[in-house]
Amino acid sequence: MKRLRSVDVVIVGAGWTGLTMAQELASRTGLKILVLERGGARKTRDYLETMDELDYAIRLRTMQSIRDETVTLRHMARDRALPIRQYGSFLPGTGVGGSGEHWSGIAYRYYPRDFRRRTHLLEKYGARRLPEYCTVEDWPLTYDDLEPYYDRVERMMGISGKAGNLRGTLIDGGNRFEGPRHSEFPTPPMKTPYLSALFQDATQSLGYHPYPLPAATTSVPYTNPDGISRAGCAYCGYCERFGCMIGAKAQPTNTLIPLLSRRGNFELRTGAWVRRVVLESGRARGVRYVNERGEELFQPAELVFLASWT
Ligand SMILES: Cc1cc2nc3c(=O)[nH]c(=O)nc-3n(C[C@H](O)[C@H](O)[C@H](O)COP(=O)(O)OP(=O)(O)OC[C@H]3O[C@@H](n4cnc5c(N)ncnc54)[C@H](O)[C@@H]3O)c2cc1C
Ligand code: SF4
Repeated sequence: MKRLRSVDVVIVGAGWTGLTMAQELASRTGLKILVLERGGARKTRDYLETMDELDYAIRLRTMQSIRDETVTLRHMARDRALPIRQYGSFLPGTGVGGSGEHWSGIAYRYYPRDFRRRTHLLEKYGARRLPEYCTVEDWPLTYDDLEPYYDRVERMMGISGKAGNLRGTLIDGGNRFEGPRHSEFPTPPMKTPYLSALFQDATQSLGYHPYPLPAATTSVPYTNPDGISRAGCAYCGYCERFGCMIGAKAQPTNTLIPLLSRRGNFELRTGAWVRRVVLESGRARGVRYVNERGEELFQPAELVFLASWT
């Protein structure tokens, strides 16, 4: 098997996770970073020029082909894992950007109680209500620990919405139930469609607190702190299962790839299907992958990150 020249970091998977990690490492260090992605390259213009509903929504062009490599699933530890033969709502991505290309872009933060899920459930329902096999745990960090990072990624993506809790002050019209934000959303909420407006009026009259969804679709033209400009949403409705034709929905290809492609210490290799992490003396030393010509190659690396989705 051919052994390639070693790199400092190899990241498997070019979705939000892998490319965010690549961007953080590439911008803060001089490390040479290689991202291996099994699918092909893509850019915003591809959606504008070639996208159609049959190809994307029915034939699931952007998604992992279960004909070539299925996903197995079991509901309980004692069950036998069975292959998925037809996708339902679970639509894992392939190609640069991964699932972040055809995601819906609903962009909630976790609530503070989500970080202490086990404690919360025990307090609310008691230990008797948790089944024996339940593995729910508290996180080792809190909402407050993560808040600055939520804020940063929301600015990078240009999330639209209305704050309902700004530094502890509750605000009508926003989500009053979420944890405190230290600043308002980077772009205003999306327009309220007719049915949602009816729902809003009805629930408000009953004393509830409806609010617009936080969305990774820019409601107005937006330039993020990295200097990346994107158009405001045109309300075409082709978000989920599609890439946005004008780049209004935040996707790795319209936020992170433009930055990374300018960096000398970053390389993206597509058509690189990783099959194995190579261990030497119990330490990850690189990965083996199959390229588009069917050749198996060994890519040595000092650090190996798996970002290929669970
Ligand atoms: C249809 C849909 C709608 C969604 N809507 C929302 C939403 O509204 N709000 C929300 O918060 N989340 C949503 N999600 C979830 C969200 O998009 C994903 O959790 C997120 O994009 C995952 O990012 P990731 O980088 O971890 O994984 P992915 O985006 O899946 O990226 C993994 C990458 O690894 C590559 N890969 C996998 N195996 C290998 C291998 N062996 N070798 C090389 N490369 C490999 C894949 O091709 C892929 O590009 C949605 C997901 C889908 C599918
Ligand atoms: S322009 Fe269309 S695809 Fe893009 S974010 Fe708006 S509704 Fe979604």
